[in-house]
Amino acid sequence: MSIQDEFISTVSHEMRTPLTSIRGFSQTLLSSWDRIDDDNKKKFIKIIEEQSNRLINLVENILTVSKANAGTIVMKKVFVNASINSIIPMFKEQYKTHKIKFVPQKDLPPARLDDDKLQQIMTNLIDNGCKYSPEGSTVTITTELKNESLYIKVKDEGVGIRKEDFAKLFKKFSRVENHLTSKTQGNGLGLYITRQLVENMNGKITFESEENKGTTFIVTFPVYNEEEVLKCSQKS
Ligand code: ADP
Repeated sequence: MSIQDEFISTVSHEMRTPLTSIRGFSQTLLSSWDRIDDDNKKKFIKIIEEQSNRLINLVENILTVSKANAGTIVMKKVFVNASINSIIPMFKEQYKTHKIKFVPQKDLPPARLDDDKLQQIMTNLIDNGCKYSPEGSTVTITTELKNESLYIKVKDEGVGIRKEDFAKLFKKFSRVENHLTSKTQGNGLGLYITRQLVENMNGKITFESEENKGTTFIVTFPVYNEEEVLKCSQKS
């Protein structure tokens, strides 16, 4: 299979699952509206919303990889804690099986970033943290200001990554075998895109991992003084 055919095949597969679920729940709601109680109605609509969010993230990732969207980074003054905080409820809802903990550093100065891209990065990392860790475990997100850099960490208690697989991680379309890869949806684009986005915003991404103990992804961004942040907000 050519890399293009493979791409189309994995993406169609990833789209089919949420689309089937959206269609199924909308059809049920339409055909049996009067017979479904309010609690279940709400539950079904929530699933439709969650699956739509999943599709939106997938399309964002595809657009980024196809570069159609790569040039549109708009650096502005961003309150990182508030930005991350706004996407946490979506994950708590989607992964009821996990504990999702956000530990923000207080009084973090504003950063110079593209807010949408930051959320795309965090979505990919938190999604992976949940996908590759067992039910009941905790995914912890922290922010910290250290050595004139902003550190954002996503730590899980999952399957971890073998040393021999480290090099494959950020490659396009590269999935790494573990006992959860076959159970989870994925196309091997998430980390490739995440690194591109981080680097496009002058950041760095690294990770620490131990098999069967867990993985921590560490994203760092340079910190600018208030004046520089302000200057860039006025420009864009
Ligand atoms: P996908 O999740 O779609 O397979 P990614 O590019 O996001 O693609 O990740 C590439 C591979 O890296 C995954 O297939 C998985 O094996 C591994 N991986 C990513 N995040 C984690 C994590 N938090 N813990 C363990 N393995 C991970």
